[in-house]
Amino acid sequence: MEKTPPPSGKLWLVGAGPGDPDLLTLRAARLLAHADLVVHDGLVGEAVLALIPAHVERISVAKQRSRHTMKQELINDLLVRETLAGKQVVRLKGGDPFIFGRGGEELDAARQAGIACEVVPGITAAMGCAAQAGLPLTHREDASAVSFVAGQCKDLSDQDWSGLAGHGRTLVIYMGIATATAIADKLIADGVSPDLPVAVIERGTTADARVLRTLLTDLGDLVAREVVNSPALIIVGKVAARADALDCLGAPGVAEKLGNFA
Ligand code: SAH
Repeated sequence: MEKTPPPSGKLWLVGAGPGDPDLLTLRAARLLAHADLVVHDGLVGEAVLALIPAHVERISVAKQRSRHTMKQELINDLLVRETLAGKQVVRLKGGDPFIFGRGGEELDAARQAGIACEVVPGITAAMGCAAQAGLPLTHREDASAVSFVAGQCKDLSDQDWSGLAGHGRTLVIYMGIATATAIADKLIADGVSPDLPVAVIERGTTADARVLRTLLTDLGDLVAREVVNSPALIIVGKVAARADALDCLGAPGVAEKLGNFA
């Protein structure tokens, strides 16, 4: 008797966008509605998770900065195992899967296991947060280059950021809140002006978003004074002066200096 072939599962690495469920792609919304299993991060908020039908199985693999609830290898194994079992698996990740999302590692694992895998892009935090704040990441007068960097690395001094911030450039720092003072010191030591505008955007695209502006020299103090919590982005460059934001209160001269850039 002929054996029935195993059911063919598929893995989708799906960007959930920066928080507001309206910023999901149509493809992401469709896949969520038809998945057998959704494996999601802590960064994916309740408003997006609410779109997953009740009958769809859900696994959270939330990670926190100093506490890994599930190691990446275990996540990879889980995705491969469930897909090989024939499920339609959606791996739902905050923002875009390939921007600081370890989507590349999950895609490698899928390729090695020989399973079908497709990547669905999402709006990355930089784009969502900048849009909400009315902060153009590029601007004909102010910036013709944008860089995205990760600020959480243990030893920032090992990273070469020279030339990423300053004249004509916008630097967007993900995961940089805990190291904000070290980041500002590093940039200033590299020759970036201490008076360059900075915007800090907390929980961007959500109803509780906070957008703050200051100058590079005051960044560490601002983050401490205003108790900025993750997830938050730091945007350094002249364009930050254009954000619709609260100017950092309490730091003398900040508002006047920011005014000079507008
Ligand atoms: N893949 C994600 C980034 C994951 S790294 C993306 O493309 O957006 C996690 C970092 O993203 C956070 O530490 C924070 O710096 C940033 N981030 C994610 N969502 C955010 C939001 N809603 N508001 C501000 N920053 C956010």
